[in-house]
Amino acid sequence: MSNVLVINAGSSSIKYQLVDAETGERSAAGLVERIGQRGSEGRIVHRSEGEGSAGARFERELPVPDHTAGFSAMVEAFAACGTPVEGLDIRAVGHRVVQGGSEFFEPTLIDDRVADRILELGALAPLHNPGQYQAIMAARARFDVPHVAVFDTAFHQTIPQRAYTYAIDRDVADRHGVRRYGFHGVSHQVVSRRAAAFLGRPIESLRQIVLHLGNGASACAIDGGRSVDTSMGFTPLEGLVMGTRGGDVDPGALLHLLRAGLETDELDALLNRGSGLAGLAGSNDFRDVWAAAEAGDGAARLALDVYAHRARHYIGAYLAVLGGADALVFTAGVGENHAGIRARICGGLEWLGVEIDPSRNEAAAAGPRRIGTDASRVEVLVVPTDEEAEIARQSWRLVAG
Ligand code: AMP
Repeated sequence: MSNVLVINAGSSSIKYQLVDAETGERSAAGLVERIGQRGSEGRIVHRSEGEGSAGARFERELPVPDHTAGFSAMVEAFAACGTPVEGLDIRAVGHRVVQGGSEFFEPTLIDDRVADRILELGALAPLHNPGQYQAIMAARARFDVPHVAVFDTAFHQTIPQRAYTYAIDRDVADRHGVRRYGFHGVSHQVVSRRAAAFLGRPIESLRQIVLHLGNGASACAIDGGRSVDTSMGFTPLEGLVMGTRGGDVDPGALLHLLRAGLETDELDALLNRGSGLAGLAGSNDFRDVWAAAEAGDGAARLALDVYAHRARHYIGAYLAVLGGADALVFTAGVGENHAGIRARICGGLEWLGVEIDPSRNEAAAAGPRRIGTDASRVEVLVVPTDEEAEIARQSWRLVAG
């Protein structure tokens, strides 16, 4: 038995899964959301599978003032489904941690010192690390098993200095830890490995561009299995157009807004929650925006134009960084499911060797698949991401040795 409880705490949510790290099979999954939101109750949705509780589901609105309470709600949901956590033979807990700074390069066993550093690194990721720290402390108090931190930034530690350095005053940057860290590392890592396995080629021989297009979105240039550049930077705000984040914006425009009277917190809310598809077209759900554009809505059309333009911009950049590419890989909610935007992003890139096959692209299929033509010099793939399975795998590898 290699049961790993995976805890993926976001700024106002906790996603969790119970995964057998060796088989990848999951026996429970759930989501606690609206944590710490003033004026609205939290909510938990939980599903347990397996013997004695096949399909048991638990859903409830309840007060969840912080991530400690969110963790307790999860424990109660397991019990309410007839599968109390004490009986689940949990061997390790894997925690997704967004920001590992310049010091955590690998999955790391969590002791008091590591937990303290995760909290301190909250200075660089104020929306994420503090809640993750709370979830870690609650889980350590409850489960007397090894706890492993898997960092979103770790996969990007191989990015060379020329690509992670911002050209600002070096002393200022060093003093404040300002550099590109990159995020979505767990996803880029598992997707690039699965893409290589699908192609039946050693990952060391491949230059890949992975487009993780979900509510958060980032591009990554991967050379021989190592991240060499990525579009998210010091924070997960930089790069591609996302659900509620706009990606690249001239910092001068932000100074202008501050001078025009916007408060820092207002600017923060604008950039994190009021931009991207939501800012341009009124919804962060890609399906809504696509449907509105098809119905002739000008704002939605522009949003998709900007979305596709930015993605192509990064493909071009990473082709230059990598000196060409062997595979272009789409993943996450939009990337895995939306043939239309994949076609838009790849359209007209035949001269670069990127050729989509329309019927392969539009075929409804699950699992890794080829959507490029047989003649396409660059393999164009859809490869589903699975961050939780990867966190379970990395945690178990560290614990089981
Ligand atoms: P993620 O963050 O990976 O869960 O992705 C969330 C995004 O994926 C949202 O913008 C959804 O609109 C989009 N999405 C999810 N399912 C689909 C689908 N079947 N078709 C198109 N977009 C989808």
